[in-house]
Amino acid sequence: MVRSSKKENPVKKKIIINTLGCKVNQYESAAFLCSFEESGCRMAKAGEDADIVVINTCAVTAKAGAQSRQTVRRLIRRHPDAKIVITGCYAQMAANELAEMVEAPVCIVGNGNKHLLVEAALKESPCDLTMLMGRILKKKEICRLPMQRFGNRTRAYLRVQDGCNNFCTYCIVPYTRGPSRSLKLSEILAQAARFAKAGHREIVVTGIHVGMYGRDLEKKSDITDLMLALCEAQPDIRFRLSSIEPQEISDKLLKAMSSCQNFMPHFHIPLQSGDDTILSRMNRGYDRETFRRVVEKCRATFPDAAFGIDILAGFPGEGEEEFANSRKLLEELDATYFHVFPYSSRPGTLAATFKDQVPKAVREERVAELRALADKKKAIFHKRHLGTRRPVLVEHKRNKEDMLTGFTDNYIPVTFPGDNKLMGKIILVQLEQLDGTTVKGRCV
Ligand code: SF4
Repeated sequence: MVRSSKKENPVKKKIIINTLGCKVNQYESAAFLCSFEESGCRMAKAGEDADIVVINTCAVTAKAGAQSRQTVRRLIRRHPDAKIVITGCYAQMAANELAEMVEAPVCIVGNGNKHLLVEAALKESPCDLTMLMGRILKKKEICRLPMQRFGNRTRAYLRVQDGCNNFCTYCIVPYTRGPSRSLKLSEILAQAARFAKAGHREIVVTGIHVGMYGRDLEKKSDITDLMLALCEAQPDIRFRLSSIEPQEISDKLLKAMSSCQNFMPHFHIPLQSGDDTILSRMNRGYDRETFRRVVEKCRATFPDAAFGIDILAGFPGEGEEEFANSRKLLEELDATYFHVFPYSSRPGTLAATFKDQVPKAVREERVAELRALADKKKAIFHKRHLGTRRPVLVEHKRNKEDMLTGFTDNYIPVTFPGDNKLMGKIILVQLEQLDGTTVKGRCV
C-alpha cells in the first residue's frame, strides 16, 4: 500500500521519542532529538499529535521486552497518523514480530544502523514497512551519533563504546548490540567539547562494556587513557565512569582517578552473584574473593567513594546456600548502593537452557530481601557523611518541595534551599540530615 502524507513540509514535523533501558539508549535518543531539531522538527508538546514517534526499545529482561511492546502499542493508539520508528535492542531481537504486530506505517532500525534513523524517519517511504536491520554480529564500526547537547539535562552521557564480546550466559546484549566497537579519541574529545559548549558541567562516560574501550581501535588505547585525556581536555567538567567490570579496575585506573581532580570518586561494578559456582555458570570470569579484593582496594584508595554494585537474584541453580553467599558478601562489602534485578530468562542465551530455573516467587522474594539490604547500606553511607562538606553540581530543576537538588562528587543526592542562579554551578554543601533516600543540606 502506498502511503499518503498530509505533511508537506518536513521542517514542521512534531516528534516524540520514547526511550527504555540503559544509558547508551538514552545517549542515542538524545542524539536523535538533536538531529531532528537540526532538521527543523520539534518535540511534540503534551497532548499534541505527533508526526513521528520513535521508540528506542530494550530487551535486557523479559519485563523490558514486554514494556517495549506495550509502549509501541500505546503510542500507535495515541498517535494513529504518525510514522512509527522502532529501534533498540528489542527491535534488533524481534524485528519480525514487531513488523507483524504493527499495522501503521513503520520503520524498524537495527542497533547498528541508528545513524540512519533520523533520515529514514523523515523520508516519505513508498511502502508501509521499512527494515534497516543489518547483521549486528558482523559490525566492525560503532555508529556515529554526534550531537550538540544532551537535551536539557545538567549531566550528559557520552557513549564511547558499543557492544560486548563476553557472552555472560544470562545476557542477550552481545546478540543485540554486536561485538565491542569504540569511538576514536578525537571524536570523543570533540563530543565532550560540544557538551562543554552547551553548558553541561558533568559527563558520564558510558558504553555497553566500557572497560573494553580502545581494544578494537587501530591505535590501541584503554579506558584509563581515555579518562585521562577527557579530564585534561575539559578541566571544568566533572567526569564519571559508568559500570566497569571488576577485572578492568587496574592500578592505572585508580591512579588516574587519584590524580585528576575532575574524575569523580564513583565506582559502579557488576557482581551479579556472590557464589563461586553461580559466577562460573554465569561465565563472569572472577570469583567472590577476587571481587572482594577489588572493592577493598578501591575503598583503601578512596574511602569516601560511591560504590554501586549490580546483583542478579535467582539465576538458575541458585539455591538457599548460593543465595546466602551473595547476601553475605553484599553485607560485608563497604558498598553504597545496589541495583538488584531478578534473573530473567532470555531466549537465545545459554542460561535459558539450564534446567534448574528458580521459581518466579522465590526470585522476587530474594530481590525484595536484597533491596531492603540495599536501603540499609545506602543509609549507612549517607549517615557517614553527615556533618561533612562536599562539592555538589546543582541540577536545573527543583524538587516538589521547591528545594535545589544535586549530587555530591561521591554521588550522594542532596536537597537544599538556595537561589536559581546556583543552578548548573558546582557549590559546597554541608550535609546535615537524612531525608529518606536523600540528604538535606545547606550551601556554605
Ligand atoms: S559483560 Fe556480560 S552482562 Fe555485560 S553486556 Fe557483556 S555479556 Fe552482558
